[in-house]
Amino acid sequence: MVHLTINGRAVEAKEGTLLIEVCRDNGIEIPALCYDKNLAIDGSCRMCLVEIEGRHGLETSCSTVVRSGMVVHTESERVVKTRRSILRLYLDNHPNDCLTCEKAGDCLLQEYAYRYDVRFREHEGDRRGTGLAGWTDTSSPYILRDESKCILCGKCVRTCAAIPDRNVLGYAGRGFHTKISADANQSLEESTCVSCNRCVVICPVGALIDRRSYEARIRSWEGQHSIIKCKSCDYGCNFDLLDKNGKKVIRPRKPTNGRPLCLRGRLFTEARHNTELPKAYRKVETPDGRRFQEVSWPQALELDGLLERFCTEPEQGE
Ligand code: SF4
Ligand code: SF4
Ligand code: SF4
Repeated sequence: MVHLTINGRAVEAKEGTLLIEVCRDNGIEIPALCYDKNLAIDGSCRMCLVEIEGRHGLETSCSTVVRSGMVVHTESERVVKTRRSILRLYLDNHPNDCLTCEKAGDCLLQEYAYRYDVRFREHEGDRRGTGLAGWTDTSSPYILRDESKCILCGKCVRTCAAIPDRNVLGYAGRGFHTKISADANQSLEESTCVSCNRCVVICPVGALIDRRSYEARIRSWEGQHSIIKCKSCDYGCNFDLLDKNGKKVIRPRKPTNGRPLCLRGRLFTEARHNTELPKAYRKVETPDGRRFQEVSWPQALELDGLLERFCTEPEQGE
């Protein structure tokens, strides 16, 4: 164990633990847009900067391991001033769309802007994407992408790559024009994306949105919520069931412990819990490339022809 002081409080922590985790374990909330304890450290958003006595500059708490004798200040004047400047830069390059954004109320950028009292302002410089909120990729019936809201935290890239046979997302372009792209800068429909929605559930802002949830028009805080477990395979991924006056939507939850999430599991879960089933789509190879095609629910669940297969396939030894 190591002993340190955070905001004047004596704290004990396991050797080798990251400072951000020690703070959070002790009820000290550190803002972070690019950090997730289940993903590789990126350290790009700089929101988790803290002051450590004896060190010249501010340090990112997501990449600092605790040491005995450390004296840490997480909300000093210098730290808060720096966080406000970082948020100012994010907002100057972001559409002012909180009123109608699907992510409002569940958005980390919005939460931190409120916490540190940083507002949108008139700004004459360039903004990402179109400068206006608008979907830049509507090719997938499961995911909506809005380039103008992306803050390039890279969480979607890292979570997609955590499942070896996926690894669909990456960075394209340079400098101000850097963006997230699927495969060779393709639409989600054309790409090898399997619509698992891992990237959607980890995106801290409204750049990636669950399309089914968006079309159901149920805000994340509305209606009744319950957590349900997928029974499609042994991983047992968790889904949120939102129920607003009988209108239901199933949303994948952030995967932990190596759980992969997959479209098949989501569709199985929808079929089990939703009495008004939305349309189901599967990706198919066509002469023009990959395309989403509406399919029947037995086809979506890969159950079509099951009875025929049972009756016609010869048993072993026959
Ligand atoms: S992503 Fe967040 S900050 Fe941006 S418009 Fe939506 S709610 Fe507002
Ligand atoms: S939906 Fe899944 S496969 Fe597609 S880009 Fe997102 S994480 Fe990758
Ligand atoms: S799409 Fe979302 S998760 Fe991906 S880099 Fe942009 S903000 Fe981060």
